[in-house]
Amino acid sequence: MAYAPLLAVASLLTGCGSKDTPMIPIPADSSSYANVNAFATMHMVLDLTADFDLKTLAGTVELQFERRDPNATALVLDSRDLAITNAEAAVGTGAWIPTAFRLDAPTPAFGSALRITMPPGTDRARITYSSSPAAKGLQWLTPAQTAGRVHPFLFTQAQAIQARSFIPLQDLPGVRLTYDATIRTPKELVAVMAAEMTPGTAGSGVFTFRMPQPIPSYLIALAVGDLTFKAMSPRTGIWAEPSVVEAAAREFEDTEQMVAATEKLYGPYRWGRYDLLVLPPSFPFGGMENPRLTFATPTVIAGDKSLVSLVAHELAHSWSGNLVTNATWPDFWLNEGFTTYLERRIIEALYGKARADMEAMIGVADLADSRSTITVPRDKTLLPDMTGRDPDEAYSSVAYEQGALFLRFLEDKFGRQEFDTFLRKWFDTHAFESATTEDFLTFLKTELMARKPGVVTDAQVQEWLQAEGVPAFAVLPTSDAFTRVERARDAWVGGGPMTTLASTARVWSAHEWIHFVDALPRTLTQAQMRALDGQFRFTQSGNAEIAHVWFRLAIATRYTQAYAAMEDYMVRIGRRKLILPLYRDLAATPDGKALAVRIFAKAREGYHPMARASVEQVVK
Ligand SMILES: [Zn+2]
Repeated sequence: MAYAPLLAVASLLTGCGSKDTPMIPIPADSSSYANVNAFATMHMVLDLTADFDLKTLAGTVELQFERRDPNATALVLDSRDLAITNAEAAVGTGAWIPTAFRLDAPTPAFGSALRITMPPGTDRARITYSSSPAAKGLQWLTPAQTAGRVHPFLFTQAQAIQARSFIPLQDLPGVRLTYDATIRTPKELVAVMAAEMTPGTAGSGVFTFRMPQPIPSYLIALAVGDLTFKAMSPRTGIWAEPSVVEAAAREFEDTEQMVAATEKLYGPYRWGRYDLLVLPPSFPFGGMENPRLTFATPTVIAGDKSLVSLVAHELAHSWSGNLVTNATWPDFWLNEGFTTYLERRIIEALYGKARADMEAMIGVADLADSRSTITVPRDKTLLPDMTGRDPDEAYSSVAYEQGALFLRFLEDKFGRQEFDTFLRKWFDTHAFESATTEDFLTFLKTELMARKPGVVTDAQVQEWLQAEGVPAFAVLPTSDAFTRVERARDAWVGGGPMTTLASTARVWSAHEWIHFVDALPRTLTQAQMRALDGQFRFTQSGNAEIAHVWFRLAIATRYTQAYAAMEDYMVRIGRRKLILPLYRDLAATPDGKALAVRIFAKAREGYHPMARASVEQVVK
């Protein structure tokens, strides 16, 4: 069972540890073994070698602590499947002395507690270790799984609790650290980290990094591959494989404008550069908001900027998430709900309200679909119970879309100007801190509700947090464009001519297409499906989101002519949001399930361990 002992809070408050400032206890976190109220990490020094033959990251990590309990004699760290070969301790910059360590038996959810003896006064630990080839937070790609097909590729994905599978450390979002890193690679490859990079080191096989802003452990990120860089503006650029970098730079050329628009709304961008790393298609997420260097799926390169809300989203995390961080994983909605709200505001600033509303409506549909697949009732709310569970098990759209609807409701009730000021103040006063839902509620009460009494009630706030559905008093997005799409759909489904539909649809954006396909009745005949496909070539769509909704419709209507393309899509792409619903839909019928099992057998090796685990749940 996981635990995070809150050691003698009274002694902390009476001034043990740091001399000047009273120590604020770090919130208990059920997903970490770390005894953070005895030792809290301040800084980390990494020296790791990426070995593509062994599929290991191996070397040393040095952790520098604030000693919060002068009497503590044991340090407890998080680890998962690590081979630990040595541990040392030191006082300040004094000499390293060998010290005892042991690993507890692992649990499937949290891995093993690593216990290190800390002699009196010591406040540093250095651990020599190697990751496992099966590390949950690493994906080692063969050359065939990359765009260039010549060199292998490695990337990390630490959120939520997988940093411990490649570094033994205090793996919880309530602790922040700065770091220095040295990464050693085969000479022909390039290493990048979500940190300040030392330029001009390509070809040397040794890369050094520095992260001067304090971050939670889940934002530690590394990638190694045949990577090249293309600048988009003085502070934004693209890292990608050579064959991808030009298309990515064109697709994401509005990034600088997005940074400027977000700064105007929510205050300065505090991380220096904002670059994007475009990963191979097996990346299990749309994007990961690693600071200074968002990791992104190539599935959003559609050729028409229609899916760049992903960049707006990951960029928005530079405020909500990276700057003000959920203190524990049950507070995840503070990261994702805020970010989804900010994302739509950025899209509105750059591309207009109509597009932001369409994206918000697609989000609401996604929320309903996602909720319908959740079996643990509390997981349908903004406050899931994660005791004893890997936070990834509770992952769904709820934190994103219910959270965004909550903020949209507050904006509507208090007025945009007032709400913008409020949000900006939230980011400014909590910058580089971790916050709980309770912290947010206190801030909401003093900064908005008390100033404008009677506008929003406590009961409404609680319903947003605890309801298993969207509250009846929600302010839902509407879209005239989508209403027109539905009218065209109804006319065609009701027997109207294809030529009328085709001429109406000529001006549709990708969002209108997604809505059109997603909102088609699941009772379409084979003839109707063939007619649509013949006219609009959905099976061959180069837009991964349109293809996704089309394949779902194809499964529902048993339009098997799309299955070969669907299978290719599910083998090629590892992005969980795009593939998991297809597996789920297939698994709903016996012959569909047989197909899902067959596709998974073919795709499995190419998936990231996290995507693999999610799909296994569906096809088992
Ligand atoms: Zn996010």
